[in-house]
Amino acid sequence: MQIQAKKLSKIYGSGENRVIALNKASLDIAQGDFISIMGPSGSGKSTLLHLLSGLDRPTSGSLTYDGREIYSLTDRELSAFRRRRIGFIFQQFNLLPVLTAKENILMPLLLDKKQPDEGYLDRLSDLLGIRDRLSHLPHELSGGQQQRVAIARSLIAQPEVIFADEPTGNLDSRSGGEVMELLKGIHQNMKKTLIVITHDGRIAEMARRRLTIMDGVLEEV
Ligand code: ADP
Ligand code: MG
Repeated sequence: MQIQAKKLSKIYGSGENRVIALNKASLDIAQGDFISIMGPSGSGKSTLLHLLSGLDRPTSGSLTYDGREIYSLTDRELSAFRRRRIGFIFQQFNLLPVLTAKENILMPLLLDKKQPDEGYLDRLSDLLGIRDRLSHLPHELSGGQQQRVAIARSLIAQPEVIFADEPTGNLDSRSGGEVMELLKGIHQNMKKTLIVITHDGRIAEMARRRLTIMDGVLEEV
């Protein structure tokens, strides 16, 4: 899948409260790319990732996936597109607390009324080392395990592209390292396009392309 962002801007508020969170960011993402994005807190990283993944809409600019303009979809169409084609991993895991690990992982399929492929779920759980944790609730899992459940959820619909917003930001350095190794493996072995925001220079160096963002301005290193 070819993703093309052109001059994406996001402006919050007006008058004295006006904030240019993202300033005309353009980016071409090829199938199988591994991109890292670094920048200080408040520089617009999450804003950019939310726009690239269709979680939010820009003030101006365009975004195409294989030539198709994403922001002209209705909200309903856009949510369905995200569920089927895009995986997203959050710093805070964003698991539903009342659902088991397995139910959390299957949620994108259930919302789409699709039957889970049990074989694929087994393979994912083995790969991520969470097979014996599937019937647990999130609060019964460590941070690293919760993030691995969230990674399984991001992969369950077999999307081509995974966006991760500081996926190791809430983890100690050992679990964070494990999570990054898993993500790298998923990029290499499952051929997923991977776009990762990070504060960690070592993680950024794993990527094939490195970008920085400063005051809403995106640049390739
Ligand atoms: P980062 O992820 O790099 O820390 P963000 O993309 O979250 O930065 O935020 C970029 C800028 O936009 C910040 O100045 C932030 O305060 C502002 N911002 C983000 N979301 C909102 C919002 N919903 N309303 C107003 N300002 C926002
Ligand atoms: Mg952020």
